[in-house]
Amino acid sequence: MGKGNSDNVFIACIKIVKSRLSNERFKHSLNVANEAKRLAKRYGMDPQKAEIAGILHDIFKEAPREEHLQILNRFGIILTDIEKKSFKLWHAITGSAYVKHVLHIKDIDIYNAIRYHTSARGGMSLLEKIVFVADFTSKDRNYGDVDRIREDATISLEKAMRSGLKYTIRELLSKNLPIDPGSIAAYNELVLKKFREI
Ligand code: FE
Ligand code: FE
Repeated sequence: MGKGNSDNVFIACIKIVKSRLSNERFKHSLNVANEAKRLAKRYGMDPQKAEIAGILHDIFKEAPREEHLQILNRFGIILTDIEKKSFKLWHAITGSAYVKHVLHIKDIDIYNAIRYHTSARGGMSLLEKIVFVADFTSKDRNYGDVDRIREDATISLEKAMRSGLKYTIRELLSKNLPIDPGSIAAYNELVLKKFREI
């Protein structure tokens, strides 16, 4: 993507996302786009690509159940048993498919950043990590751990990811919900990496 072109893509994405989300969720998406852009500059990633992935990450967050099912059917996506029971993961799965097949944004890294922004997975790319962390540290966030994760993000993306995953896994445990194997893989990878650093 050239600079001019990606500016246009970003503006087009803003319009589509605005039309699909409540005002509050739209603002969150803009904040995540902004935060992803900031983290991209800090950690050496293309800021415009990060901004596009950020604005799109929750595009299906408010889609009705029927629309999720329609996308799953249309693109032959088979959910695992865990995914079936984890409604929070659906918007990442269907949203990424929508961006790829309907909006025709074919960049695989943007697709994966949306696809794994909630569950995470092992072997995440820099962009995937940036969007995952930006979703935790965006301006609109005000949950208990937010200041710590923001501080972690100034030190390293991995540190912020580790804190974010712990928060997510703790939440799921407290609600007796299943944990996606991707989250466990990402968590283990980050913790083992930390041991190697010591
Ligand atoms: Fe989300
Ligand atoms: Fe989000």
